[in-house]
Amino acid sequence: MKKERHPTKAAHTLKSAGISTTQQRLAVLNILQQASRPLSVGDIRKQLDPVSSVNKVTVYRIVSLLKKQGIVRDISSASGSPYFEMATSDHPVHPHFNCTSCGTVNCLTPLTFSQARQLLNQPDNFSVDHIEINISGLCNGCLHATKLQNQTLKKGHR
Ligand SMILES: [Zn+2]
Ligand SMILES: [Zn+2]
Repeated sequence: MKKERHPTKAAHTLKSAGISTTQQRLAVLNILQQASRPLSVGDIRKQLDPVSSVNKVTVYRIVSLLKKQGIVRDISSASGSPYFEMATSDHPVHPHFNCTSCGTVNCLTPLTFSQARQLLNQPDNFSVDHIEINISGLCNGCLHATKLQNQTLKKGHR
């Protein structure tokens, strides 16, 4: 396998979190860094080089390790399987939109500082260490599909 001469962003992230660098970990992290929306373990596996044939359990172990080190966060979805995205400082906490039809999870605009502070301002006996806001409904694609379907149905009844 080709050795990288310069440490990549992914390699740097792993190193600063104290995780030893392996090709598989780098590959998974690279995919997550380049993703425009949260990915499930299945999504990640589909994007991995088929030649490397990393199984689902291995991908799951890698994302769990990354999560434990605070590099990625998981987002629960309506389907029950978690989605993963970067949790590094350039990816602040933000709400997510989960389509109940096709299951995709999309990122929404991050919370403003005052909104986040309000959420963190909990009663004295609480220690907040996780904030998750999930909104569900139909994504653009599915909404259009439903509209089209309804139109066809209406026409059929005439
Ligand atoms: Zn959808
Ligand atoms: Zn997100």
